[in-house]
Amino acid sequence: MKFVDEYRDPRLAAGLARAIRETVTRPWTIMEICGGQTHSIMKFGIDQLLPPEIELLHGPGCPVCVTPLEILDKAIAIASRPEVIFCSFGDMLRVPGSATDLLSAKAAGADVRIVYSPLDAVKIAQANPEKQVVFLAVGFETTAPANAMAVYQASRAGLGNFSVLVSHVLVPPAIEAILSSPGNRVQAFLAAGHVCTVMGYLEYEPIAAKYRTPIVVTGFEPADILQGIYMCVRQLEEGRAEVENQYARSVRREGNIPAQDLIKKVFEIRPRKWRGIGEIPASGLGLREEFAAYDAERRFELTAAGVEESSVCISGLILQGRQKPPDCPAFGTICTPERPLGATMVSSEGACAAYYRYGRLRTGEAKA
Ligand code: SF4
Repeated sequence: MKFVDEYRDPRLAAGLARAIRETVTRPWTIMEICGGQTHSIMKFGIDQLLPPEIELLHGPGCPVCVTPLEILDKAIAIASRPEVIFCSFGDMLRVPGSATDLLSAKAAGADVRIVYSPLDAVKIAQANPEKQVVFLAVGFETTAPANAMAVYQASRAGLGNFSVLVSHVLVPPAIEAILSSPGNRVQAFLAAGHVCTVMGYLEYEPIAAKYRTPIVVTGFEPADILQGIYMCVRQLEEGRAEVENQYARSVRREGNIPAQDLIKKVFEIRPRKWRGIGEIPASGLGLREEFAAYDAERRFELTAAGVEESSVCISGLILQGRQKPPDCPAFGTICTPERPLGATMVSSEGACAAYYRYGRLRTGEAKA
């Protein structure tokens, strides 16, 4: 398949791994931001190709993982109302809230539907004027344009029975939160190629300069990730701290301007709570006041309830790169993908789920 097979070429990967080995002279710690990159690293054994000097840490870029329990509880409460058709991407249905999940609510009779686009939810609202149709709008900057378009179209059509439950998060504030935390170990980042396809990488440049930390915009296939690591290692070894673009086949420095304009038209920046981490200032999106009529939290007058995470779960430390899944005593014992206790086991893109799926059971095993 074009744009996939050539980036999975074993000879290309071996050449990049050799280039990394020939460049590195001392230990470096690099974080991949995106859960999709973590998944690729585990699936293709990329960590096992690296020299022992390179340690990979797994970042907070799994949107399912960082969606707070409170949002899931609100989603389930809304979905359980008889007048509601609740629409979501499929990966959110099995994510447990504090007591149950959307799939169980559906089994109990709630009208919960999987859609492939928020615009499908708008069409469902148009076809069911007697119902309230709610879409669960979660994710990073990648999904924000389509969610903004759904709200914008509903507004243009004067749809009174459509709303969105929003839990959007933004990558740059999370990078700053990690870099400014007292226990930070990250010395370079692989930024997420799909996020930068929308947003570009202008906003990463002041962060790289302020924290003297290389940031390389990187794709998701094995050769992409190895090349991104190689570009980070070269910067680190040469004492540079710049933003570079490995994923040039998709990302431009300024990003997708029409998509950014649409996001700005519908959403504004807000503080946002990240599951496992807590609130990060200016790290999320909420609907602008002029679109408040489409805010499901207002429409259904929901208030936030305090929800406790499992006391054994260290997913917050994992999402900040301070620990790894096998460091958790619950990993693979009382916490599994079938019965997740915490944020990083709930989605296949979460670090705990990726380690579990690809059999990385002990710290250090990756390089054995
Ligand atoms: S294994 Fe489970 S309990 Fe442990 S950190 Fe991961 S998600 Fe949390």
